[in-house]
Amino acid sequence: DNFSEFLLPDALMRGLASAGYDTPTPVQTQVIPLAMDGMDLLVSAATGSGKTAAFLLPIMQRMIDTPVHEGGTRALILVPTRELARQIHTHFMRLGSYTRLRAEVITGGDSKGHQISDLRKNPEILVATPGRLLEFLETGEADLSDLEILILDEADRMLDMGFAEDVLAIIRSSNPERQSMLFSATLHHKGLSRLTDSFLREPQVLVI
Ligand code: AMP
Repeated sequence: DNFSEFLLPDALMRGLASAGYDTPTPVQTQVIPLAMDGMDLLVSAATGSGKTAAFLLPIMQRMIDTPVHEGGTRALILVPTRELARQIHTHFMRLGSYTRLRAEVITGGDSKGHQISDLRKNPEILVATPGRLLEFLETGEADLSDLEILILDEADRMLDMGFAEDVLAIIRSSNPERQSMLFSATLHHKGLSRLTDSFLREPQVLVI
């Protein structure tokens, strides 16, 4: 049981080694192969389970193994809070430190001007809270028409915080040909089925 069974690019194996990860957690063992196969996933996994690397590694693998040169957003990770967005970005910086991939954070409460210049650097990956991203989609500063992978992280908290309509609007403005994954602490949340119905196509359901 180690990460080499996933046949990840060398740069990611080096990132894992420098992060000190040598054994995948259960959520990583289950999610990574299916995600690398392009499946849509509905995953119940708690904070602390290792879910962040479970979605970051397949995203980065795709970006590295299938490079494109147009410069659009290829992966979006939608989260309920700025704090979670920052944590995921930090995690990305650690695991991706041997890659040339770029991720930027788009959240409320921080300077729009800085975020607009971040978007103009054409990051492959965005980590965002719904409200601010939606503003940038409406002004055309952000564009999800070439999106390849969309992650909803902590979807139950996103619903509790009243983001359902914003999330649905973001889903509608993103490339319908994408791969999608939804992570939630529980799959028994009222309102979750409305999200999953409009978001996932024949998902594999994983209860970790
Ligand atoms: P997460 O559930 O993604 O927030 O991760 C919880 C914590 O576990 C974070 O501090 C990660 O850095 C750490 N972690 C994730 N995957 C592994 C792993 N395979 N080996 C060791 N630590 C890990």
